[in-house]
Amino acid sequence: MDPCRPGSGHPCPATALRCCGAGYRVGVPVGRAGATGRAVKGQLRQVYVNIDGGSRGNPGPAAAAVIVSDGEGRVLAEQTRYLGRVTNNVAEWAALEDAVELLVRMTREHGPLHAVVRADSQLLVRQFNGEYRIKNRALQRAALRVREKLAQHPAVRLTLRYVPREENAAADRAVNRELDRVLKRGEGEGSCMPGGKVDVPRGAFLQRDRVTYAVVPRLAPAGVLDVATLRRLADVVEKHRIPVVKITSAQRIALVGIKPEEVEPIWEELGMEPAPAVGPCVHYVQACPGTVACRYGQQDALGLARCLDEKLVWRGELASKFKIGISGCPFNCCDSWLRDFGAFGKSRGWTVVIGGAGGARPRIGDVIAENVSDDEAIGLVERTIDVYKELAKKGERLARTIDRVGIEAFKARLER
Ligand code: SF4
Repeated sequence: MDPCRPGSGHPCPATALRCCGAGYRVGVPVGRAGATGRAVKGQLRQVYVNIDGGSRGNPGPAAAAVIVSDGEGRVLAEQTRYLGRVTNNVAEWAALEDAVELLVRMTREHGPLHAVVRADSQLLVRQFNGEYRIKNRALQRAALRVREKLAQHPAVRLTLRYVPREENAAADRAVNRELDRVLKRGEGEGSCMPGGKVDVPRGAFLQRDRVTYAVVPRLAPAGVLDVATLRRLADVVEKHRIPVVKITSAQRIALVGIKPEEVEPIWEELGMEPAPAVGPCVHYVQACPGTVACRYGQQDALGLARCLDEKLVWRGELASKFKIGISGCPFNCCDSWLRDFGAFGKSRGWTVVIGGAGGARPRIGDVIAENVSDDEAIGLVERTIDVYKELAKKGERLARTIDRVGIEAFKARLER
């Protein structure tokens, strides 16, 4: 397989997605087998991370767990997350993503870390190291997110190793505890993953008639469609006589009024995955045509939205839902002032706004940066999400977090 050529614009040979610029050879960084992330000068603190992800049913209700310990076996951090109804492989990748996120946060307190991550899934380890090609699009995106995160945070040096299940028993127990906790309480809704509710068909939402379901396929970002997708949607709607087809506020298409037994065949015929339409995560990135197709456009709103969608949608659980709106000029056709994170284009770059909200308690967002590039805007979204994760109470939207802590305090955290 071809080696990666960072910056060449070629797709990643391991994931077939956009180049992340990290310099990998089929998933392994050039020059250092078995680890990811750039080398960090000076002393690294070594930590051991046990991860596990598992589903009851494959696919079925699933959870991910991460346990970070020091060299003497003292637990430094532990985290579990319910994922909804997904496969074992998806759950294992979710655990690896969670581990990377947690390690990045820990570097702020502990400094640079060398993390020896231990998983009992040969499949995950071989996919990560590039021995197995990842075919599933959602997993390709997960792999890309992990690599990009490590490339952006050289303070985390990560080695992923396979260990037998008995050496990963604590993480396995944590997964089962999380599943027991959620399933016993009859929860299971609100997951960021496809098919978050345990007892409904995959990726479907029960409608107000309590009989039929809606599905919302994940389409190309920002509602840009091609002929093949439109044709496939039309064929499925016609064949299954779906009574309502609705363009949603998230620039997606909802197919409404489906019988439960038809949900799975519809997904198979569509060949698409469910979009995250509920749950505490990045729901969507909205964008206007910008310079691609609007005479007022001053920046490429669709291009920035595509990058953000790849990086952030489904990236992991937050305190509440999170919406992003990108507008190509100050007319703000995508309501950037009213999104958790918004940006609108001016001749010299993006103006970035955070903490906007619509709904019952609307709030105009606060400007945190002006005249920034695409890359700087992407960095600001990621940092905003990290600070939001640190400061928000469970269920609290970003607008309310900023109201509570104050915009100046929030901005100070962004700059740390
Ligand atoms: S925000 Fe500006 S660029 Fe985007 S659609 Fe509206 S007028 Fe056009």
